[in-house]
Amino acid sequence: MPRSKNLRMLQELPIVKGFRPMWMRPRYGQSVVLNLEEYEVLRLIDYEGKIHEEVAGMMNVSRPTVTRIYESARKKLSTALVEGRSFLIEGGEIELSEHHYLCEACHHRISLPPMAEKPELCPACGSERIISLNDCFIRGCRRCRRCR
Ligand SMILES: [Zn+2]
Ligand SMILES: [Zn+2]
Repeated sequence: MPRSKNLRMLQELPIVKGFRPMWMRPRYGQSVVLNLEEYEVLRLIDYEGKIHEEVAGMMNVSRPTVTRIYESARKKLSTALVEGRSFLIEGGEIELSEHHYLCEACHHRISLPPMAEKPELCPACGSERIISLNDCFIRGCRRCRRCR
């Protein structure tokens, strides 16, 4: 892996932590792990239809880097599809402009400035079961059931 000092800016986190294949028992040890840069490049190119140059500008990386990340992401997705593996979205050299939390009880999302304290209660349902999505997606928190 080439070293990079540039963190890629991400606006939002994915709505899911990963996917599990139907018909097969999930074997997390064999999960394909898509990092957040790969997710973002797939989202921008395949989902939003942007061209590589645009994506490079948005993520503050060179065009060949976008192409490399894109190819790696496609390889991982096709591996999961063909081999029936589950996949997780986790990790990556990224930076988020906000801290995102999720209420595990009602799935309400809360976004706060990075320095704000973790909310104690969900403003939507009052539950205390609030997890940090930044932890889940960037490091894999290993506590919530999404990060197994
Ligand atoms: Zn809630
Ligand atoms: Zn987690």
